[in-house]
Amino acid sequence: MSTFQDLGLNDDLLQAITDLGFTKPSDVQQKAIPTLLAEERDLVALAQTGTGKTAAFGFPMLEKIDINSRTTQGLILSPTRELCLQITAELKLYGKYCKGLNVAAIYGGASITEQAKQVKKGAQIIVATPGRMKDMISRKLVDISKIQYSVLDEADEMLNMGFYEDITSILSHTPDDKSTWLFSATMPREVASIAKKFMYDPIEITVGNKNESTKNVSHEYYLVNARDRYLALKRLADANPDIFSVIFCRTKRDTQKVAEKLVEDGYSAGALHGDLSQNQRDLVMKAFRNKQIQMLVATDVAARGIDVDDITHVINYQLPDEIETYTHRSGRTGRAGKTGVSMVIVSKSEVRKIKSIERIIKKQFEKKNIPSGMEICKVQLMSLANKVHNTEANHEIDSYLPSINELFNNTDKDELIKKFFSVEFTRFFNYYQKSKDLNVSDSGGDGRDYSKSSNDTRYFINVGRKDGYDWMSLKDFLKEVLELGRDDVFKVDVKDSFSFFNTEKENEQKVLDFFTDFKYNGRFVNVEISENKGRSGGKRRDRDRGRRRNHDKPKGERRSRRSKDTGERTTNKRRRSSVSNRPRRSRRK
Ligand code: ADP
Ligand code: MG
Repeated sequence: MSTFQDLGLNDDLLQAITDLGFTKPSDVQQKAIPTLLAEERDLVALAQTGTGKTAAFGFPMLEKIDINSRTTQGLILSPTRELCLQITAELKLYGKYCKGLNVAAIYGGASITEQAKQVKKGAQIIVATPGRMKDMISRKLVDISKIQYSVLDEADEMLNMGFYEDITSILSHTPDDKSTWLFSATMPREVASIAKKFMYDPIEITVGNKNESTKNVSHEYYLVNARDRYLALKRLADANPDIFSVIFCRTKRDTQKVAEKLVEDGYSAGALHGDLSQNQRDLVMKAFRNKQIQMLVATDVAARGIDVDDITHVINYQLPDEIETYTHRSGRTGRAGKTGVSMVIVSKSEVRKIKSIERIIKKQFEKKNIPSGMEICKVQLMSLANKVHNTEANHEIDSYLPSINELFNNTDKDELIKKFFSVEFTRFFNYYQKSKDLNVSDSGGDGRDYSKSSNDTRYFINVGRKDGYDWMSLKDFLKEVLELGRDDVFKVDVKDSFSFFNTEKENEQKVLDFFTDFKYNGRFVNVEISENKGRSGGKRRDRDRGRRRNHDKPKGERRSRRSKDTGERTTNKRRRSSVSNRPRRSRRK
């Protein structure tokens, strides 16, 4: 079957499909629509985001409900307000020739009386988020006792968001003989159990492999030190001048912070997370849809409603806690037949998660290097050259040409080109010319199996337990004074009057430089490279650990001592200023 006509939809619906410009039903539509039209049965459909699930349940529902009746016959539950509004808008388009059709959207954060009014007008279909729906039921503002079709859309996400109780409670108000259609991108155990609980002998439709990611998305990861995450993000953006992306962070705070930093650095970026008001979120989404925002920094929950087709890159600034969430993230790109890239910035301690994700999405990641500063300069220069080449000349300039020509009378073409491009290029060049390599080699595995690593240096330091350190506080202290990341100081071994620790070889010079003339409590703290490679067996470590615990100090005490340490440095080397002279990006429309 390859046309909508073949699927058995009525002429009003076919006309709407033509208007929408859909020429061919998608896989999930081909499988779901005829089945749902032919039988009154429960259905579980698993398909990636962007595969056209809304139409897969929307058209059969529109075909089956009685438009001449004003009774509510269909209920669609969806996880977020954005999605709820999106589905409502789609259904209205699908049903634009169905005279008398009323679709009501029910969601939090808007007037409940207004929504009740919409329902009262005789909504045959209600599209709702679970929280508000439950509220309306308990206030007797809706009657779903006669519905014949219920849809659980994005079921995995609804369960992720903790709507299990609400869904159970809502469905308890619906008739037993209705049909339930469950749509989901992934099939975690929770979804399987909800299917079991609420459905009777469902037909199962799977498009692609369960939990598999879309074919059109390629997956890349970049291994950097945790502290270089933000710099790496900027480089990835700079190396892709036409990027239109969603950047995922784990927490609302990080989301806000990263977006703010990007804006400060001249990128067109915006934040989307649950601490923003609905109005703020709407504004950000509008700007993103209009491409006034090139980089949307979002939390997983807030990004669920995003249905923007041209996203070129998804960047995982941090990996999600739940590996399954990665499928949702990467599904934001590669939509509607386009290709997309999902990039992951990882530190050594997280790199093992990549393997687990590969197993779930059944695709390989490509390990790539963060582009060097000079590579970025080249990309930017060529992008600018192409842009200039493709720009149509504005003839309003004609009348000024004589004066401009006079100014450049003695400049030859090459010189003129160089000058012209330098206006933009120099900004990038100045920023990147002395930039360091951000890539971390992944020899040594996840950064925990140090015995394999030949690429690290072991040091002796003349402070130990007598000075009040245990392995944790010494590690904290070293990380702080050396400005190194969480995983950059390792194998800290504290003895009575001295200790050992390791860093990557690349940090060796930094460590030795720092501890030249470093004084603490009036005494020189001395660091030397140790001959002992620190490959002692596990037993001694465990024994030591037990002892170390007894020497743990309360946090406050540790902190105050550390700040004294940094205050007593005798060298006058200045701290590396974090990120000065960043290149400012011109904002694009
Ligand atoms: P999903 O719910 O699976 O994530 P959507 O239902 O939101 O996907 O559809 C994704 C996009 O594809 C929407 O913009 C939709 O209008 C479009 N679309 C759906 N079905 C078709 C089709 N048969 N042909 C072309 N575009 C389609
Ligand atoms: Mg959908």
